[in-house]
Amino acid sequence: MRIVLLGAPGSGKGTQAKLLADKHAIPQVSTGDLLRAAVAAGTNLGRRAKAAMDAGELVSDEIVLGIIRDRVREPDAANGFIMDGFPRNLAQARALDRMLDDLGQPIDTALLLDVDFDILMQRLTGRRTCRECGQMYNVYTSPPKQEGICDRCGGELLHRDDDNEDTISKRLKVYEEQTQPLGRYYEDQGKLARISGEGEIDEIFGRLEAVLAG
Ligand code: AMP
Repeated sequence: MRIVLLGAPGSGKGTQAKLLADKHAIPQVSTGDLLRAAVAAGTNLGRRAKAAMDAGELVSDEIVLGIIRDRVREPDAANGFIMDGFPRNLAQARALDRMLDDLGQPIDTALLLDVDFDILMQRLTGRRTCRECGQMYNVYTSPPKQEGICDRCGGELLHRDDDNEDTISKRLKVYEEQTQPLGRYYEDQGKLARISGEGEIDEIFGRLEAVLAG
C-alpha cells in the first residue's frame, strides 16, 4: 500500500500517518521529521535545510528528493509507505512518480485532509511534541495531564521552532500556492480522495480507513 497524505500544515497529517503506519505495518515517511533530525544532528544537509525551515519556506527540491530517493529504497518500504509532507509541489510529485515508476511501485492513493483555516491556526499555535517519543499534544484541545510533560513517557514537550505566528502564516501561504495544486494533480490520475480532517482523531482515522477499504 503506497499512500500520499496531503493537507495543510496542522491538518493532522503527522498524527494520522502514524496511526495508518501502525495499522498497516508500513513506515511513515515524513520529510519534515527527516529534515528536523538532520538539523538536530548538525549534518551538512541539515545545515543547508535550516534557513528555509526557520523561514517557513520549502527546502530545495534537490535536498528533499535526495532524502526520498534513499528512503523508498530501504527494505522496510518494500511493502509500501505513507508519505507525510511529501510531495509539497508539482515538481516533487512528478519526480516521485518517475522514481516509483522506475521501481514498478506507483502510488495507489492520495488522501487529502480538508481542514478549515481557523482550526489550522489553533492546531498549529497549540501544538506540542514529545522530544522522546514523538507523541503529539495540543494545549487547547488535547493538553497533557501535567504541563510540558508527556503523559506516555514523561519526556519533555517541545514547541516546534516554526510553530510561531509569523512562520505559520508563511507556511500556510506556501501551502496554498505550491501544495494545493497537487489535489488536482492526483485527481487527474484518478487517485485522489478528499476527507474531512475536522473532529476527533479516531473519527478522522475511521474516515481514512473507510476510503482505503474501498
Ligand atoms: P512539516 O513537518 O511537514 O510541516 O515540515 C516542516 C518544514 O520542513 C517545512 O516548512 C519545510 O521547510 C520543510 N519541508 C518538509 N517537507 C518538505 C518538502 N517535501 N519539500 C520542501 N520542504 C519541506
